[in-house]
Amino acid sequence: AATDTELMAIPQAVLWSLIDRSHAFARNLLATLSGRMRKDNLALVTTASRSLEFEQASCVDALTGLHNRRWLIDAFPRAIRRCEQDHAPLCLVMVDIDHFKRLNDEQGHLTGDAVLRSVARCLAESLRSQDLIARYGGEEFAILLPNTATDEGQRIAERLRAAAERMSLAPLTDGSVERMTVSCGVAPLGLDTDLDALIGAADAAMYRAKANGRNRVEVSGPPPHDE
Ligand code: GH3
Ligand code: MG
Ligand code: MG
Repeated sequence: AATDTELMAIPQAVLWSLIDRSHAFARNLLATLSGRMRKDNLALVTTASRSLEFEQASCVDALTGLHNRRWLIDAFPRAIRRCEQDHAPLCLVMVDIDHFKRLNDEQGHLTGDAVLRSVARCLAESLRSQDLIARYGGEEFAILLPNTATDEGQRIAERLRAAAERMSLAPLTDGSVERMTVSCGVAPLGLDTDLDALIGAADAAMYRAKANGRNRVEVSGPPPHDE
């Protein structure tokens, strides 16, 4: 482990009895294991030598190593259906880099590409193993948070925003641009469980974040109660 970590040892017999008895436990375990594989995959595909091969597999974005929109259209609705079946909450977050055109204009597209890769990595590393992330378009990312209520989704989006803001761009821009920021829109799963509606709601919240000054998180619909 790269950081201090708490290890919970579960005796083998107990583990199997949990798997036998709880559908949710079994699925969580599978999500954790596949999340680890996904993180390893991310490290692999961002190395240039593999990117072409993965692009041909057509689910992975060659620039960032993240999944692409084609994959999202298939994977997100399945995750939404699973949460619906479990009567579990879920949030979708749209993340858009602020003033990215300006960065491109001032620093050139190659630097823009390098920043996009860094942001993608930063977002992916800030997520939990069950979360799904894809590059939605140009400088926009879509993130699905299963089993996540609105206030927790808002906290996670805020963590993503802060992580992006902390990231130093100096090594990519020869020191001329120090930081960039992102704006986030969060939409909880409501009565309308259609992916397009969820993306539309998160997008609207994200544009509200832009209108309210950028580098911030806005939640679709009524705000969650204060803590
Ligand atoms: P806002 O804060 O309102 O989001 O402003 P913005 O400049 O980020 O948004 P806008 O939509 O005006 O510009 C997005 C830019 O992203 C324009 C486009 O050239 C750039 N872009 C999209 N995809 C890529 C890419 O793969 N690489 C690079 N370098 N630039 C890209
Ligand atoms: Mg933008
Ligand atoms: Mg955009």
